[in-house]
Amino acid sequence: MKVLIVNAGSSSLKYQLIDMDTESTLAKGLVEKIGLDMGKLTHKWDGKQFVVEKKIDNHVIATQMMLDALTDPEHGVVKSMDEIGAVGHRVLHGGPNFTESVIVTPEVEAAIEENIPLGPLHNPANLAGIRACREVMPNTPMVAVFDTAFHMTMPPKAYRYGVPKDYYTRLKVRRYGFHGTSHRYVAGRIPEFLGVKPEGLRIINCHLGNGSSICAINSGKCVDTSMGITPLEGLMMGTRCGSMDPAVVQYICNRDHIDVNEMLNICNKKSGLLGISGVSSDMREVAAAAEQGNEDAQIAIDMLVEGIRKYIGAYAAVLHGVDVISFTAGIGENDAALRARVMTGFEFLGAKMDYEKNAKIRGVEADVSAPDSKVRILIIPTNEELAIARDTLALVTAAK
Ligand code: AMP
Repeated sequence: MKVLIVNAGSSSLKYQLIDMDTESTLAKGLVEKIGLDMGKLTHKWDGKQFVVEKKIDNHVIATQMMLDALTDPEHGVVKSMDEIGAVGHRVLHGGPNFTESVIVTPEVEAAIEENIPLGPLHNPANLAGIRACREVMPNTPMVAVFDTAFHMTMPPKAYRYGVPKDYYTRLKVRRYGFHGTSHRYVAGRIPEFLGVKPEGLRIINCHLGNGSSICAINSGKCVDTSMGITPLEGLMMGTRCGSMDPAVVQYICNRDHIDVNEMLNICNKKSGLLGISGVSSDMREVAAAAEQGNEDAQIAIDMLVEGIRKYIGAYAAVLHGVDVISFTAGIGENDAALRARVMTGFEFLGAKMDYEKNAKIRGVEADVSAPDSKVRILIIPTNEELAIARDTLALVTAAK
């Protein structure tokens, strides 16, 4: 079966068509600037690409453009839409409702809608993607895969916040966690890679990309994670501030006469590596600036490294020890210097890196622990699209 993966944002739609017989990507693309003056579709397949630039009014038109590109007689990879057996949608916030992926039904759509207050930017866009696909391909089954679902196994001591209980019962205020599909993929891949059973395996997985989160995993299940009710909590990220005293928000609002929405926009979009370094949200550019002596860029990197180290220490305590520390996503897979700095000084925990080997590894699966390390230190490239496609195939096949 060929499965189409759709990740709809407020003004964008990312897609990838995967042939599940070989688990290989046939084509992928991005429709951007939906609803703006001039939109753009970039379609890539077989090492080639083509671009269409025109006004794209809404997600239905964007979805039609995606299908036109996939079935284009010259550039397409399928003859007709009928070859696409199912669509898997990435959905940000499942709230407390979803512990796993589900076939999209009217009830599921209603639940995604109900969770809009928890994911005000993403859930409406994800729904728009679902509805647009249904309009354009009404007979193709669809599956929703939630970023939060993997984390629903956390115990209350990990997911509750220290605010009055009423906020939890009435407003569903709790830690949800994100990047669940990535953490789940890596947690599933590690025992395969090591040739061991998942039972009893304690993993601290560091998903370090433009958005970053760390997850404590025991026997394949999440027991704690760094992101919270939104993806703002936890590590400092490309543009997000990560955890800080919430009184900072009130203090800046009062001093600068801005409201909480404006402040949270600053916390989400203008902070993190970008806000501290003043250079960029992109780790490569921040690292290059630090290399040239930019002190603010160096502080940004130091803060990120220290933040990761603190979570590793905390989650080793949560898990009563650790068997695997893994790195994934753009920074985790590629930035050997950062990985080396993170792992320096963890010998007391039984984690000893092979620094020479680590320096050579970029974007491939590898064990970079020293032979006498008790803890395996791994690099496991994530593949969220494949994880979504596998769920989609499994659910659609089971429903037949
Ligand atoms: P992601 O969100 O997973 O796509 O990751 C994006 C982040 O990975 C950006 O901060 C990139 O700068 C970073 N990244 C990608 N390649 C490298 C690299 N070779 N060295 C350092 N950071 C990298």
